[in-house]
Amino acid sequence: MALVTKSEIDILQAALEKLQQGFSHLPDFTPAVDRDRLRSVLMEVAGRMQQNYPYHHPRYAGQMMKPPHAAARLAYALSLWINPNNHARDGGIASSHMESECVAAIGEIFGLGKPLGHLCGGGTMANLEALWVAGQLHPGKTVLASAQAHYTHARISDVLALPFEAIPVTPNGCMDMTALESRLREGDVAAVVVTMGTTGLGAIDPLPAVLHLRQQYGFRVHVDAAYGGYFTLADALAPELQPAFASMGEADSIVIDPHKHGLQPYGCGCVLFRDPAVGALYKHDSPYTYFSSAELHLGEISLECSRPGAAAVALWATQQLLPMQRGGEFASGLNRSLLAARELWRRVQASHRLKALMQPQLDIVVFGVRAGSARDASMLARKLFAETAKRELHLALIELPAELVRQYWPELVMNRDTVTCVRSCLMKPEHLDWIDDIWSVLESAALALDE
Ligand SMILES: *Cc1c(COP(=O)(O)O)cnc(C)c1O
Repeated sequence: MALVTKSEIDILQAALEKLQQGFSHLPDFTPAVDRDRLRSVLMEVAGRMQQNYPYHHPRYAGQMMKPPHAAARLAYALSLWINPNNHARDGGIASSHMESECVAAIGEIFGLGKPLGHLCGGGTMANLEALWVAGQLHPGKTVLASAQAHYTHARISDVLALPFEAIPVTPNGCMDMTALESRLREGDVAAVVVTMGTTGLGAIDPLPAVLHLRQQYGFRVHVDAAYGGYFTLADALAPELQPAFASMGEADSIVIDPHKHGLQPYGCGCVLFRDPAVGALYKHDSPYTYFSSAELHLGEISLECSRPGAAAVALWATQQLLPMQRGGEFASGLNRSLLAARELWRRVQASHRLKALMQPQLDIVVFGVRAGSARDASMLARKLFAETAKRELHLALIELPAELVRQYWPELVMNRDTVTCVRSCLMKPEHLDWIDDIWSVLESAALALDE
């Protein structure tokens, strides 16, 4: 598997030449660069970068890492010769239009007609904006999210000076609706964060039930689909999860990370608001910008000011090549990840050395290493992680609360509050083809545990 092919570089070169033609009417100007020194520094960079994990390779199956598509990489690189800034339209007219088109297309997959939305640095920034809006509309009230929600929600709430409370989860890692309702009865809730695909387990919170409670208790429903949002396109999704995805358009705000499952380089999150009127909350009276265009620009509906237009260009190119359609190539990649996770889970279930826990809802598989006690199981999980890494299979670890693990593993002696388990995000479409390979490394690493 080649990291880079010459044909890709040829395409970039041709596209750059076309880009350059657009400016050929200007007086000749060539920035001065010392080629020899540039080359030597770049070679040093390539050497340093070899120390990274091989994120692009299917043998990297640990954290949430999915390499950007060639379309994204090349379009991003191409746009850097212009370096558009999607803050004000003046910073990047074309790239701002591309961003608006991308955001509208993302809104469509959730059934949102004309949402207000924009790209931003990532899921953290996107969630910050959504919770900021919730706090502006319900000042001083509490933000609720499940105990398995991303830790960023507690921290963001702290930044926004909004109280935050965690709602317990059911054994599969989803928000417990009985616990949520009993908290809602106490009142003063600004927003409930519904996670569609938790970062640890890929669990889907019961969105339809939360939407139902909104009618009675009147709070904002914010869907954090940073990880799982794109799975709304996947036919292989378990039927019981489909109603949750189908109701995403009824949420007040949605966050999705094109840099997670959308084949984009880092620096690409997206926030969407169902009601465009919340745009008024962003109002400011900057004396510096915005005087050259009458149209609303993205800088007026975003907390971040300067933003990389390159991210929008890359996403736009990817969406052209791989439209977000059910049954299309992009969706089929997501299906393959779901199938890969199910297959790995099936093998773990049949294993004498590994211990299957909750069935994966998306493409994240979490499992334990069999032992008598939580302490030993945790130690062995760490050892397995190291043994697979030695064999060039890169997995991740997760600390699961003892009470969650107990539901699947009642015989485990709980002499620790958490159990360290092994976690694998099978995000790459290629992972399905690599399951035999991944499994054989896992088995050989598991054998080494007894040595
Ligand atoms: C990754 C993730 C985040 C944080 O997003 P970043 O892009 O890393 O800033 C928030 N919520 C969920 C569910 C995530 O998976």
